[in-house]
Amino acid sequence: MQKNQIVDLEITDLSYEAMGVAHLEGLTIFVANALPGEVVSAKILKVKKNFAFAKIEKIKKESPDRINVKLRQWVQTGLASLAHIKYDKQLEFKQRQVVNLLKKAHLDNIEVGQTLASPEEVGYRNKAQVPVRDVKGKLDIGFFRRHSHDLVPLTNFFTTDPEIDRVLVNVRDILRANHVPAYDELHHKGEVRYLDVRRSKASGEIMVILITLHKDFPQLKKVTQEISKINGVTSIILNHNPQKTNVILGKKDYLLWGNDYIIDKIGDVKFKISPQSFFQINSLQTPRLYDLAIKKANLQPDDVVIDAYSGIGTIGLSVAKHVKEVRGMEVVKPAVEDANNNARLNGISNAKYVVGRAEDIMPQWASEGLKTDVIFVDPPRKGLTPEFIDAAVKTAPKKIVYISCNPATMVRDLQLFQEQGYDFKRIDPVDMFPQTPHVESVTVLTKQK
Ligand code: SAH
Repeated sequence: MQKNQIVDLEITDLSYEAMGVAHLEGLTIFVANALPGEVVSAKILKVKKNFAFAKIEKIKKESPDRINVKLRQWVQTGLASLAHIKYDKQLEFKQRQVVNLLKKAHLDNIEVGQTLASPEEVGYRNKAQVPVRDVKGKLDIGFFRRHSHDLVPLTNFFTTDPEIDRVLVNVRDILRANHVPAYDELHHKGEVRYLDVRRSKASGEIMVILITLHKDFPQLKKVTQEISKINGVTSIILNHNPQKTNVILGKKDYLLWGNDYIIDKIGDVKFKISPQSFFQINSLQTPRLYDLAIKKANLQPDDVVIDAYSGIGTIGLSVAKHVKEVRGMEVVKPAVEDANNNARLNGISNAKYVVGRAEDIMPQWASEGLKTDVIFVDPPRKGLTPEFIDAAVKTAPKKIVYISCNPATMVRDLQLFQEQGYDFKRIDPVDMFPQTPHVESVTVLTKQK
């Protein structure tokens, strides 16, 4: 098989990144945007020892699960790489990811629930970070083509709250009218690198963050004044990022106008969100995820609960009124400050958050003889460490509730807990990110007698 060769392929599976999978001449071939059951004529793009990549030239037999995507850019940029699959099939795809991982780990007797659908299939994101670049002599916003930094201009971001799209386009037009230069990555010149817009569904408040190369530029005052007139905007921030880097946000924020935060809600708990805080993207699905976790945890009024990898305290503060005490830890200092402030904002006096790595704090609490009843963990993609798991087990909780954004590391960690006397029977996938391949899930481990 060679590059540029055209071959007919029968697609038999979907990879975890939602690439169509085919087999030919002993090779596994990954075909972007192809679906199981389809027969496609495809062009080979790259050949490795055991696998190859190809792209569709023509669909010869189409899957009934395929839907026509209004803008091919959504799939092309990876903004919504599942957008061509019917929503109920997306949910099945996510459930199957978990089933397959369990099979690989020889855990066939674990039940996997149906993926909990998101209340909104599109327009669910409460935040958009979009690159700003010069395209054909004009400042534009959009999304990078997959594996590149070529900007594909867009005004409809599909998975983002349409109110955010409206503000993005308004800000783009203000920047254009004032001749503000877009950032030029190649020469590390120009001005606006990204726009970051967040909107609270609960309050309607909108924060606009201009991520710029310099702290100040000639048009800044006028631009700020014009943005402040956009309907709904309550906060304008300049984030200064002078570095040659792919990291989007710089370290310093400057308030240009309005408040330096917006207020959002998860269920009936209020959260003050500052520019650098991590906040769950899908505001309507998050309380449903937590409700499921809380129900499965069977919390009691005299329970001591740990909220590990707490961010701004969304989980702990949601359970605080049902239990005796909440303790949490998180590595990002401003997030911990937000968590403690958010406790105060909601009149919650039995929750306390500290700064530190979960794998350091947990052993410390265990050696101080802390006894816990329920531990919630919500780690980043790399999952937990064995140190954390050992220390968590030492505090002898009745239950450990594992909320995960990466089923592969979750299954690995669940097995480590199993070896130490904790058992689980069921995993519930929850769709936090419709139209994308991301799989979130909840599992409860129970201490065996
Ligand atoms: N539970 C929160 C945040 C989940 S995201 C929510 O639902 O909003 C995972 C969090 O873990 C991030 O806030 C990240 O900063 C934090 N984190 C990453 N590594 C960590 C570590 N080693 N110890 C503690 N927190 C960590």
